[in-house]
Amino acid sequence: MNHSLDLTIMMYHYIRDRGDSAEAGSGIPGMSVRVFEAQLAEMSKHHTFVTWPEVRGALQGGGPLPSSACLLTFDDGVRDHYINAFRILHARKLSGLFFVLDRSEKDGLILAHKIHFLLAKLGLTALREAIWERLNSSEREQFTLAEKKYQMRYPPVSLDGRINLLKAVLQRDLSMRADTLLGDLFEIHVGSENETARAYYLNLEQIHEMAEGGMHFGGHSRSHPWFDWIDAEAREREIKASAGWLQQIEPGPWAFAYPYGGLSEDSPELLGKHGFVAAFTTHAQLRHSNPHFIGRLDGEEMAQVGSLYD
Ligand SMILES: [Zn+2]
Repeated sequence: MNHSLDLTIMMYHYIRDRGDSAEAGSGIPGMSVRVFEAQLAEMSKHHTFVTWPEVRGALQGGGPLPSSACLLTFDDGVRDHYINAFRILHARKLSGLFFVLDRSEKDGLILAHKIHFLLAKLGLTALREAIWERLNSSEREQFTLAEKKYQMRYPPVSLDGRINLLKAVLQRDLSMRADTLLGDLFEIHVGSENETARAYYLNLEQIHEMAEGGMHFGGHSRSHPWFDWIDAEAREREIKASAGWLQQIEPGPWAFAYPYGGLSEDSPELLGKHGFVAAFTTHAQLRHSNPHFIGRLDGEEMAQVGSLYD
């Protein structure tokens, strides 16, 4: 990329209403369908929506994008994207770029989603207690140290702050232990993890239907780790897994979204090696100078703040 690229990129996760087939009584909140549609309608007055192939063309030296171009992206490959996002985009003749996880049926839920289910079911205090009870003394020490370390970044002064602090501890320092521990808690408090996962993530049939309907797909790793927390070998395994999965879906080169927006210096090289010409972060940014660190705006957060264009 010789010049910087001006492009507004929206990032979405859950799009669901309480009780619909995406939320399905889980109690896990998301951006409501009404708010998502309202945001699309407002954005359409200010932007020209573009597709992933158009963005890829611009990155690879093709024609420039229209002014005020906007790309819609969706992370984690959850069923919300088939049930709600695809339906809405298709009706408006729009395209989205969906970052899916390379999951097989026996892989269960990623840690982040186990946490969502258990937080919704137990609440923060009971979940933290249930985890603490199951840790041995050295794990408790690790937990306490990690909590201290992240307190500056995630000040536990509000419920959101305390939730983010617990997530940071579980998803980084204790990630290996937390994966099995939360798997046990899931079976006790929610139900079969594998059965839940089967219905929770997009399956290939849905993905192919979405692709036929004009949607595009990118990589988001297999196990959704923080890329700055795992080593280079593990990073390459995660990227390679995504490339293998995407080969079944659409021809490359592809785009990638860093899990949790976590960055590592060697990622661009590893991504390039496996067929990814672009990678998206969670940094709020509208002008991009590095194709492997393209910033995005969080659509749900923007909707909570109010109009994008006041
Ligand atoms: Zn993600």
